[in-house]
Amino acid sequence: MTTDCLFCRIAAGEIPATVVRETDTTLAFRDIGPKAPVHILVIPKAHYADVATLAQDDPGLAGAVLATAAVVAETEGLLVDGFRLIFNTGEYGGQEVFHAHAHVLGGAPLGPMVAG
Ligand code: AMP
Ligand code: ZN
Repeated sequence: MTTDCLFCRIAAGEIPATVVRETDTTLAFRDIGPKAPVHILVIPKAHYADVATLAQDDPGLAGAVLATAAVVAETEGLLVDGFRLIFNTGEYGGQEVFHAHAHVLGGAPLGPMVAG
């Protein structure tokens, strides 16, 4: 737990979030500024700054984040039409919150992969 980390505080229940799924090691909640009809964030409860650090230090936990993202995609009804899974990483990746998280986006055509 990093007390000045927003997503650690959400994982600890100190800041409210609309939780859609929780496991022993992961939490999924709705993004506060949705960029698609369905926009959910999936985090490891433990603090890792980004997905690269998470995957290097605890690949099993990285897999758990992916597994939760897949279940969320299924429960949100995204499997038939498809969805996008994004890990913004570092400055060029546009990462704003430095606690590893997957964006699960869907519910409509999402357009090109990156802005042109
Ligand atoms: P990123 O740019 O990949 O670091 O994404 C951070 C995401 O966190 C953005 O899509 C924000 O809308 C979202 N966000 C910021 N604060 C909150 C919050 N309190 N609850 C839910 N989502 C949040
Ligand atoms: Zn954190």
